[in-house]
Amino acid sequence: MLDLFKKQSITRRWLINSMGIVVAVLIVVEILALILADNYYSSAIRQSLVSTLEGISAELKNYQSSAGYSAEVRSLVESFPEKEKFELMTIGSSGSTTLTSSGFQPSEWMDLGDYEAAKSSETGTSLSETTLKSGEHVMVYTVMLPGPVEEYSAMRIMTSLDGVRGQLLRLGIMLSAVLLGIVLLMLFSGMYFVRSIVIPVRQMCSIAHNYASGDFRERIEKTKEDEIGELADAINYMATELENSDKVKNEFISSVSHELRTPLTAIKGWSETALEMPDDPETVQKAMRVITGETQRLSEMVEELLDFSRIQDGRFTLRKETCDILAELGEAVLIYTERAKSLELELKYYEPQMLPFVYGDRARLRQVFINIIDNAVKYSNPGGTVSVEAYEQKGDIVVLVSDTGVGISPDDLPKVKTKFYKANHTRRGSGIGLAVANEIVEMHGGSLIINSVLGKGTTVMITLPGMTES
Ligand code: ADP
Repeated sequence: MLDLFKKQSITRRWLINSMGIVVAVLIVVEILALILADNYYSSAIRQSLVSTLEGISAELKNYQSSAGYSAEVRSLVESFPEKEKFELMTIGSSGSTTLTSSGFQPSEWMDLGDYEAAKSSETGTSLSETTLKSGEHVMVYTVMLPGPVEEYSAMRIMTSLDGVRGQLLRLGIMLSAVLLGIVLLMLFSGMYFVRSIVIPVRQMCSIAHNYASGDFRERIEKTKEDEIGELADAINYMATELENSDKVKNEFISSVSHELRTPLTAIKGWSETALEMPDDPETVQKAMRVITGETQRLSEMVEELLDFSRIQDGRFTLRKETCDILAELGEAVLIYTERAKSLELELKYYEPQMLPFVYGDRARLRQVFINIIDNAVKYSNPGGTVSVEAYEQKGDIVVLVSDTGVGISPDDLPKVKTKFYKANHTRRGSGIGLAVANEIVEMHGGSLIINSVLGKGTTVMITLPGMTES
């Protein structure tokens, strides 16, 4: 869990980018709500202080010039009906408190500075917030009285703000609790979501590392049909393909090694024999024939491997020129005439009168024909027939090589043109001949199509674009 929070983790980014912003917005909203509530309460209190005291002072105006003015003021203060909410007081001309509605000793009141402020103001009123000696926070509204009595020069109304403060505090705590609840809810649901991405990704990562080190045993468990599930499918598919290609590659190495060993064994054996019997010209001659033949086979194989590696890294190029394809095909057939005879195969060549020229690489095209005829001979059994035919079709040149050999199963047929693929392990071969031939034909703008019936035979159709006469 801890390393989920490492520097570059998705969880960390989500926490900072999404959660961070949400928390900041919620805090701002809470602060704004508290400021609004504070303003609302303050203005409500202010209004009620002002309206109450203005009412009282308006009432006193009626008694302003009567003899009972002082008694009226005293009675108003002492019988003030809203004692519970407000404190009503009178202030003398010296600024000291002279009467209080709560009945506390007026002399105990400190000078709140409100009298001077009201006296010097144009309206004859003052509104202020102050803290009493007791530590209580209050709002004070003071009005200068019109009456002639010096003892009652002004009247003050006051109320505690501590209750409002408490209420604001409670509101703040409540809002904070709601905020915390929202944040926790988001955190849990978000973590669940992030973990549903992070955990499979981490699992994929560790399995992919195994694949990189060549261990393809494990597969990723697909839990959901979402993008992560699709990724799991894709990685599993990749692993299967890698495993297959790894297997095919290993088979390729073993078959190539085997292919190399067979002629080398023959060369070694016959050269030893020739060395042992230098005076027997017949044996020496036979040894030389075998050695030459096997060396030829080896060099052809090495050439094929080199071609294949050139195709792989894009170094395979064609030296194109106008060429007579018929000559190349005739030569390829000629090479196999002897071998077919020795293998008791009938090699039929239906040679056309003429074919259009091809703009291509003479040597490479011959290599293709040799390869295909070699396969036809190789995968045939004694008594079989290999026929080679060529004709023109709508300006294209078609070369057909058919055999009555072992054939290819429908399962293997789509794969035989792929590199290293050997459908038949009973005959020599590296499994890259068809891949190279197909590449060469495609580089000429042509196609190589294989049709085959297992046990009946195979037909390879090579189509090459002919040169149009200009
Ligand atoms: P290889 O060197 O093994 O012959 P290729 O690439 O030439 O490799 O051919 C690939 C596979 O296709 C062969 O292993 C063989 O199984 C199959 N194949 C090719 N040509 C024929 C054919 N004429 N008859 C039967 N099988 C063939």
